[in-house]
Amino acid sequence: MIRDPRKAAVVAIGDELLEGRYADTNSGLIARRLADLGIEVVEFRVLGDDRARLAATFWELCEKYPMVVATGGLGPTLDDVTREAAADAAGVKLVRDEGAANELREWFARRKRDFPASNLRQAEFPDGAQVMRNQNGTAPGFRVWIGGGVLAVLPGPPREAVDMLERELVPWLSATCGHGECFARANFYLVGLAESTFADRAGDWMARGANPRMGVTAHQGTLRVSLRARAATQAGAEALVAARAAEFRERFARELFSETEPQLAFALGRELVHLGVTITTAESCTGGMVAELLTEVPGISAVFREGFVTYSNDAKRARLDVGAELLERHGAVSREVAAAMAAGAARATGARIAIAVSGVAGPDGGTAEKPVGLVCFGLSVDGVVTSHEGRFPPVDRHTVRLFAAHAALELVWRALPH
Ligand code: AMP
Ligand code: MG
Repeated sequence: MIRDPRKAAVVAIGDELLEGRYADTNSGLIARRLADLGIEVVEFRVLGDDRARLAATFWELCEKYPMVVATGGLGPTLDDVTREAAADAAGVKLVRDEGAANELREWFARRKRDFPASNLRQAEFPDGAQVMRNQNGTAPGFRVWIGGGVLAVLPGPPREAVDMLERELVPWLSATCGHGECFARANFYLVGLAESTFADRAGDWMARGANPRMGVTAHQGTLRVSLRARAATQAGAEALVAARAAEFRERFARELFSETEPQLAFALGRELVHLGVTITTAESCTGGMVAELLTEVPGISAVFREGFVTYSNDAKRARLDVGAELLERHGAVSREVAAAMAAGAARATGARIAIAVSGVAGPDGGTAEKPVGLVCFGLSVDGVVTSHEGRFPPVDRHTVRLFAAHAALELVWRALPH
């Protein structure tokens, strides 16, 4: 059978999956990560803990695909039979790996627990398999050749599966040019662009047959752009990515906020800490979400000391010194009031940057002039105050608030020197 070197299958294993006691979330996570490497998962299978069925399926899938990733059934108890089934499919016996056995003993010793004999099963692997360490649990995984395909087995608990995938399998796949093809990748995180605008500006970089191939996904006002190149050698694939990445950085210099950090709040928070620029927030419709996003960032206390949630007009007057007349004349959701909130927060705290948000989150309260989704922003940077306006789709209250909070972060991001 002719195998396409870039295709793979995923097998989720466990009686409980078939009984509907929990859902298979691992397969999707695995497929997403493989896609980053240019490997397309074209089949998902879900099977119970049935040794004969598993062995037959491993055999069948390793005939069809160069890569099969399985998850689950690596527990210490006899109902978990994935190890045995993999050995059956590979036509080998299970053998104990003394290194893995010692690691298991140490795992229990560190936790001051007796070592149950049944756990020794978890140190047994199909003869010739390569062990993949588990840093979050007891069950190691492994890779074994079955015919011309590789079966990689990960543990069932999602945290362990994802961590092992990242630490043990992805590096191996990246380093192994399977069947004459090597892959390289890069990610870019952008802010302030709609997907369609991005596509226009990216042009034929996004063509389906392009190498590197470019993909884009949108998330809360940010875009994740991935590049995947393939070539006969690893160096060749990396050169393709590097060349396109250089062009990309130039073309999207204004929008690119990170190549490693998907969350704008984290990229922004780190930048503020790095620059030593103090910040404060004055929020109405977002009710503290901007402060919440920023305070997720470790070390932010160096620059973020105080945020205001001034929901009522009284609070805006009392805490931020917004003029009663301003509120009367323009209403709380107005660029004028947002600007006054930012100015007031900067005055009250002495922070170099103050960002203020006031909007109509809905579902009620919209008017023709000020519809649901209208959000006004005030930004004070070293005493210079500007106001801004966003009109977000009135999807629902929570979404409008999220859009508003991320737009506020974006305004601050743009105000920083890059
Ligand atoms: P196992 O090692 O197969 O006995 O699985 C241990 C635990 O991991 C199960 O009780 C589930 O909570 C979880 N788990 C196993 N397989 C999956 C899967 N495919 N998706 C999500 N969670 C899983
Ligand atoms: Mg099980």
